Amino acid sequence: MTATLIDGKAFAAGLRQRIAAEVAAMRDRGITPGLAVVLVGEDPASQVYVRSKGKQTAEVGMNSYEHKLPTDTAEADLLALIKRLNDDPDVNGILVQLPLPGHMNEAAVINAIDPAKDVDGFHILNVGLLATGQKSMVPCTPLGCLMMLRDHLGSLSGKRAVVVGRSNIVGKPMAQLLLRDSATVTIAHSRTQDLPALCREADILVAAVGRAHFVKGDWIKPGATVIDVGINRTDDGLVGDVDFAAAREVAGAITPVPGGVGPMTIACLLANTLTATARVNGLPDPEGLTP
Ligand code: NDP
Repeated sequence: MTATLIDGKAFAAGLRQRIAAEVAAMRDRGITPGLAVVLVGEDPASQVYVRSKGKQTAEVGMNSYEHKLPTDTAEADLLALIKRLNDDPDVNGILVQLPLPGHMNEAAVINAIDPAKDVDGFHILNVGLLATGQKSMVPCTPLGCLMMLRDHLGSLSGKRAVVVGRSNIVGKPMAQLLLRDSATVTIAHSRTQDLPALCREADILVAAVGRAHFVKGDWIKPGATVIDVGINRTDDGLVGDVDFAAAREVAGAITPVPGGVGPMTIACLLANTLTATARVNGLPDPEGLTP
């Protein structure tokens, strides 16, 4: 069996088209969504992400505001900038690119963002709202995974899901979203025993580990849907957390790396900015962009 490829690049392009149409309709009513991205320091990968975010924000017709600060910026100065952005009615979404330099308290910075503008969904209020099944801003990467899973499988109700990885930005919110869709969810991590056997139970397997080719082909239940969140730079280029060549012979469907989850993450950032803009203007949430 050769698995169906879940084409995140094409899915993201379709999503951006829908978002652009919604933005055009908002602009006709005199509302232009605005996304502010704050980058502290010179991390090369972060610079690439921030450039890409700015470009795609402008392409869907939103206003993009970039704030680049030097590595040695004092935390108080970053907090002052966040306060200005919180108070700025032209800014609907605020994203502080992580990781921050070591001298900054990441949690304090994230929790200084107005929760209604927290388009990354990392503010403690949004984390709590998601965990209790209430309307919130949802982290972009798991939101993109959920959209692809729903599109491919329809209902996730009763499915056995295993999420490998328990980070606050991917693993935990992914598990919350699957649970909310009534999947039966297990979160695995570095202390999990007999991970291969656990993974073999999964109808839905999400790998968010950060280790190249970590999930082997014989860990996968025949016909399972595999979502590979991993981005690992190797001598062979960019690879995921799943041994793709072996896995695609067993799985029913799988996301490739690159071209799977990655493109969906930025598309979902735009989706969240649109949702935040709709909410602050008293409009209904745009269709299909929230869980
Ligand atoms: P973290 O490093 O924060 O978390 C990795 C998780 O993997 C941890 O929970 C860790 O367990 C678990 N883990 C590590 N080793 C093992 C092991 N041997 N067995 C089982 N579990 C293990 O990573 P992130 O969640 O931030 O990212 C995961 C991957 O996803 C990375 O490759 C990252 O680059 C990628 N990513 C991709 C995005 C995209 O847009 N496509 C967005 C965000 C991330 P423990 O907690 O016990 O240490």
